[in-house]
Amino acid sequence: NADAAMYHAKEAGRNNFQFYTPAMNDKSLQRLELENNLRRALERDEFVVYYQPQVEIATGKIIGAEALVRWQHPHLGMIPPGQFIPVAEDTGLIIAIGEKVLRMACTQNKAWQDGGLPPIRVAVNLSPRQFLQQNFVDKVAQILKDTGMSPRWLELEITESLAMKDVELTEKTLLELRRMGITIAIDDFGTGYSSLSYLKRLPIDTIKIDRSFVWDLSTDPDDTSIVSTIIILAHNLKMKVVAEGVETQEQLNILRQQHCDGLQGYLFSGPLPPDELARLLAGDTGINITH
Ligand code: C2E
Ligand code: MG
Ligand code: MG
Ligand code: MG
Repeated sequence: NADAAMYHAKEAGRNNFQFYTPAMNDKSLQRLELENNLRRALERDEFVVYYQPQVEIATGKIIGAEALVRWQHPHLGMIPPGQFIPVAEDTGLIIAIGEKVLRMACTQNKAWQDGGLPPIRVAVNLSPRQFLQQNFVDKVAQILKDTGMSPRWLELEITESLAMKDVELTEKTLLELRRMGITIAIDDFGTGYSSLSYLKRLPIDTIKIDRSFVWDLSTDPDDTSIVSTIIILAHNLKMKVVAEGVETQEQLNILRQQHCDGLQGYLFSGPLPPDELARLLAGDTGINITH
């Protein structure tokens, strides 16, 4: 394929033109094949959304859920986002996939609420390409209108590195979303680089501490102090804190001591298909996570 060959030639550097080797051919063909398959998956509606509960530490109640996309492949089974989001981002297909996820998440949350379940906030991940579109806010507004979903139950997640790509545009977009009543979370906090002055300037409601800091919480004193510093910083800026990747009771105990607001992790539940989350919500009387 000529495009793929050009791509590799460019990648190899201007002064260092390389002939096509079989190994390169394999790799670019694989990418191309994945791109074509993603396109077909969009047409055939093969993307599904799982929901991972977010629990308020003080009460043990489910207060939200994060929408996490999966590709239900007809032959290969369930494919996790890590295996296709990067290519979707590179090719721009993420815009269509992301819109679909947002639409599905709003439709689902509306259905849960109409079905009489306790209302929760559903958080949807945004990719840079998607968020930095000029008409992104209009698209969100249209999806809310089409689905009848109230903006106050929608949270949008962006990463620090996304926010820093174009701070002016990010601030403008976030302010518009905030004005609509949507809340904003910073995902994977601590893994990217972000300026504290921007963090203060941007209208952010929630900071999600990346799971890499949560993992060694009980064994690594450095991680313990990083986590407590993030929590204090967030609270000083009037933001809530959710810890990602909480897997053990010990991690939870430390997070509670440090007044972390919420948790998301296998200790409570992994991502669930919609009907399983609904079942959890229906029986939710504040699951006891205090000991
Ligand atoms: P993320 O937004 O940071 O999502 C959290 C990831 O951590 C999820 O992986 C979740 O299954 C996993 N996780 C949750 N609790 C635990 C735990 O206790 N231990 C461990 N080891 N992992 C835990 P998943 O579903 O594979 O998603 C990976 C990433 O893919 C997400 O990271 C997000 O960056 C991206 N992603 C998922 N859905 C979408 C989407 O609709 N749009 C975009 N742009 N990105 C998405
Ligand atoms: Mg996320
Ligand atoms: Mg995260
Ligand atoms: Mg992530």
